[in-house]
Amino acid sequence: MTAPGTPRSHQPDASQVPRYSGIRTFARCPHSRELGGIDVAVIGVPFDTTTSFRPGARFGPEAIRSASVLLRDYHPPLDVAVFSTLSVVDWGDTPIIPTNTQRSLDLIAESVRDVVRAGAISLCLGGDHSIALAELRGLAAINGPLPLVLLDSHADTWDSYYGERYFHGTPFRRAVEEGLLLPERSVMAGMRGPLYSAQDLADARALGFEVITGEELREMTPESFAFKVQGRVGDLPAYLSFDIDFVDPAFAPATGTPEPGGPTSAEALALLRSLSGMQFMGFDVVEVSPPYDNPGQTTALLASAVAYECLALAAVAARR
Ligand code: MN
Ligand code: MN
Repeated sequence: MTAPGTPRSHQPDASQVPRYSGIRTFARCPHSRELGGIDVAVIGVPFDTTTSFRPGARFGPEAIRSASVLLRDYHPPLDVAVFSTLSVVDWGDTPIIPTNTQRSLDLIAESVRDVVRAGAISLCLGGDHSIALAELRGLAAINGPLPLVLLDSHADTWDSYYGERYFHGTPFRRAVEEGLLLPERSVMAGMRGPLYSAQDLADARALGFEVITGEELREMTPESFAFKVQGRVGDLPAYLSFDIDFVDPAFAPATGTPEPGGPTSAEALALLRSLSGMQFMGFDVVEVSPPYDNPGQTTALLASAVAYECLALAAVAARR
């Protein structure tokens, strides 16, 4: 990690360079694939071929980048100067093949693996949730199987859809089958909405995951949530996946499969902050479908804030 105060890659000063000018990169960080001395690479994954309802998440990276130009260095609640602590680059988008899921997953995994091999944390902007399987292949190729912290209104542990095993509702079952995850060290939280049967969440638990339903989560404080997550994950570096449909569609309408009755944006950010002190080697924010966003780009704005919380967690971990 670069010593605090001397990041090799930094945002331009917004008092000198207007934040609405220039080519859109995440948080106005430099676009680069030179990863020497880089702490975090933000990677766009414009892939939505496996969505089952509303498509459009292929435009997620572009929308999140546009909304992210407002992000500033200092994160008051965690008292950390994010971009002065971490060297962050926007790596650009992974190659993908819109008509071929398996080849796309291979290409995404290769990109993530290259970033992780260079010693950087990957922060992927989806894209539909099938990309999580590719990210996990890339992460596990370098570091072995790892714990998952999932915030989502769905467990995404179904077996197949329309006969397809590689699908945005199946990545975490595939990841367990491929030995990429440590389910007994993992937590899934926020599951809500109608299911096919009572068996759906039982199946996720049978794979070894701890499942905190949306109803249970509503009764928990951020502190009790963090206590539970830390108890499962322990000291292992983990992977954090944030499906934007975790948040109520009143706050995040632009997503593939919205489920009413979820946390507010403020509650979601507080839950992320509660994980401060934990170490993550990979993050993602997925399932933002900009064609369904409102004129204020509410969903893309929230997704950029979620990605910023991920960076803040990484900055706190780097400072230690
Ligand atoms: Mn999901
Ligand atoms: Mn979901």
